[in-house]
Formats: sequence, C-alpha cells, structure tokens
Amino acid sequence: MIYAANFKTNHTRQSTREYLGKLQPQLSKKNPNDKVYIFPPLTALDDYESADFRVGAQNAYPVENGAFTGEVGVEQLTEFNINTILIGHSERRDIIGESQEDVAKKFAFFKEQGFEIIYCIGESLEVREEGIEAVMTHLVSQFEGIDTSYDNFVVAYEPIWAIGTGRTASVDEITETHNALKKVVDKPLLYGGSVKGANIKEIAHVENVDGVLVGGASLKTETFLELVLH
Ligand code: PEP
Repeated sequence: MIYAANFKTNHTRQSTREYLGKLQPQLSKKNPNDKVYIFPPLTALDDYESADFRVGAQNAYPVENGAFTGEVGVEQLTEFNINTILIGHSERRDIIGESQEDVAKKFAFFKEQGFEIIYCIGESLEVREEGIEAVMTHLVSQFEGIDTSYDNFVVAYEPIWAIGTGRTASVDEITETHNALKKVVDKPLLYGGSVKGANIKEIAHVENVDGVLVGGASLKTETFLELVLH
C-alpha cells in the first residue's frame, strides 16, 4: 500500500519538521512493503532524508528556472532532492483554474525530468449522479495529453464530492471505479476522499486500491499513523 499525506496549505516549516520527527520513529512498525509520501507546503520543503518516507511537492511550475514570479521550478526542488510531485489535484484544477492542457504540459515536463508523478483525477457530484458511464467518460478525459505508459506514474482517483467533505465514496463505488480504471491505466491506483481511521480498513481491502491519498486525516501525525499502521 501507498499512504500519501497532502498537507495542502497547512503546516509551517517548523510544524512539518516536528510532524516528521514524530512520524519517523513510528514508521519502523509499518509493513516494509508499504510506502509513505508526505506533501508539505512548498515553504516547508527540506532535505528530510529518510528511508521510511519520501517527501514530494504539491505543485511546481514546469520550468527549470527563470522569470516566473511567484512560482517554483525544478532548480528549487532539486536543492532539497525532491523528485516526486502531485499533478492534477482537483483543487488546482477547480480553484486555481488549471486546464487539462496546463496539467498535461506539467506532466510532460516533469516526466521529462524523471520525476515520480502522482496524478489526480476525479469527478464532480453532478457527474457521479449520472452513473458510472458518465464518470468513466469524465475520468478518461482527464488522461488527455498524459503519457499513461510512463513508468514512474501513480494515479489517484479522488471524487471531488468526497474531498474534505467527510463523505467517502462507498466500497461499491470505489470497487466499480477502480476496476474500470485499472482497465484503462495499469498503474498503482490510490483512492482519496475523506479517508480516515474509521474507514481505512474497508477501503484498503478493496481490490485494485493500491493506496490512499489523504488530506484532513494526514494533518496530525497520530491520525495519519492510524492509517499507515492500521
Ligand atoms: C485530498 O485533497 O487529496 C483529500 C483526499 O482530502 P481529504 O482526505 O481531506 O478528503
């Protein structure tokens, strides 16, 4: 299983350091085959070397460096040995306004740099209510311009209506969607959307769920460890 923590715009450099300091000693208890990823805000990136977890960027601009005021490029990430990135999160698509074209450009650039890419897709409630065919049409459209044969590639299925809402997709919905997605992209497939201690067992047991991407429940070391060590 993969356990990925997305802090979003939460935590500071200092609190991230404290978090990782508390997390690290507990990770000796995890299944050695499980992988843990932490995505802190960009200002908290550092070279937190560990064999037990990997730190990635929630976002970056697809350039090495240059005149892109307010953005961070590869040069700023490699200073901290960061070579993992989240691309396509629904908050970036819907709030920041990244189009599929922007997302695909970012993907192509970071693929070229050899980054490990955790690529997020997900449908709105409106689409979900139309049924699985509409959901799959939407999800497949989010692979437009994406090289799904890229080796260093993990997909995170995150229904938008389940993100930060406390409403998790049902086991049947996750099963049906993940089975259909595996036929489209045969890559590790994470589920994200209000994953927490109370539902990790049933979600982790779903066939074709290879891990979870977690927002709210990842913000405290204790609640994230409830997932990793469940
Ligand atoms: C996310 O934003 O990736 C996410 C899954 O958030 P939450 O766990 O809070 O629903």
